[in-house]
Amino acid sequence: MSRRVVITAGASGIGRAMAERFLSEGARVAICDVDAQAVADFAAAHPGTLAQVADVTSESAMEGFLGQVEAAWGGADVVCANAGTGGPAGAVETLDYDAWQACIAVNLHGAFLTCRWAARVMKPQGSGVIVLTSSNAGLFGYPLRAPYASAKWAVIGLTKTLAMELGPHGIRVNAICPGAVEGPRMDRVVASVAQASGQTEKAVRASYVDGVSLRSWVTAEDVAATVAFLASDAGARISGQALAIDGHTERMT
Ligand code: NAD
Repeated sequence: MSRRVVITAGASGIGRAMAERFLSEGARVAICDVDAQAVADFAAAHPGTLAQVADVTSESAMEGFLGQVEAAWGGADVVCANAGTGGPAGAVETLDYDAWQACIAVNLHGAFLTCRWAARVMKPQGSGVIVLTSSNAGLFGYPLRAPYASAKWAVIGLTKTLAMELGPHGIRVNAICPGAVEGPRMDRVVASVAQASGQTEKAVRASYVDGVSLRSWVTAEDVAATVAFLASDAGARISGQALAIDGHTERMT
C-alpha cells in the first residue's frame, strides 16, 4: 500500500510543496489548514486527498482532523508538523503579550498536538517518520523576532526529546530548518522587519542573502525535497537532527 502522509498547514506555501512532492511519489496525503479557501483550492487541485479546515492550536479541531485520518487509514507513516507563523517583529520591550502567545501557540503547541497523535498511532505500528518544521531562526538568535526564534528553538527541543522517546519504537523524528523561502510569507516578514528596524525592504531583503554562504534564497521545493529524503529509506538511520536547508546561514539580521 502507498505511504500515508499527514501534513499540517498543507494547503499553501511549504506544506503544499511537501504535499505535492509526496503525491508525486504516489503517497496518500492528508492536509489541514486554517484557511478554508486554501483548503478548498487544494482539494480541487488534488481530488482524492483528505483536506480539512483545522487550526493546529485547537485541540478539538485537531482531534477532529486527525480522528478522520485515523478512521480512513488506521494510522500514518509520515507526519509533518509544519504549521508555523512568523509572529510579531519588534524590540522585545514593544512586543504585545497576546501576539507573543499566538506565535508560540501555532509553532509549538500545534506541533505538540500533531506529534502527540503521531506517537499514539505510530507506537503500535512500530514504525513512522515525524518531521517538524523549525527554521534557521531555531539555530541562531534573531534580533526583533524573539517570539519566532524562541518558538523554533523549542521545536528543536521537542524534536530531540521525541527522537529519544520514540526511537526505541522504530520511529524517527527530525526537524528541518529552512532559511528564507521565496514567497508571500517572506514578503510579509521583510515588510514587518523593515518597519520595525527603519530599513528599506530592499535592504532587509539584501541582508538575508548577505548572511548566507550560498548567497541565495530557498524554494519551497528545496524544503520538500529534503523532507522526502528524510522520509525515505535513504534517511533510515537519521533521527534527532535539526537539518538546515538554508544555503548555510552565517548570521541572522
Ligand atoms: P505560510 O505563511 O505561507 O502559511 C502556510 C499555511 O499555513 C497557510 O495556508 C496558512 O493558512 C497555514 N496556517 C497558518 N496558521 C495555521 C494554523 N494555526 N493552523 C493551520 N494552518 C495554519 O507559511 P510557510 O512559509 O509555508 O511556512 C511553513 C512552515 O515553515 C512554518 O512552520 C514556518 O515557520 C516555517 N518556515 C518558513 C520559512 C519561510 O521563509 N517561509 C522559513 C523557515 C521556516
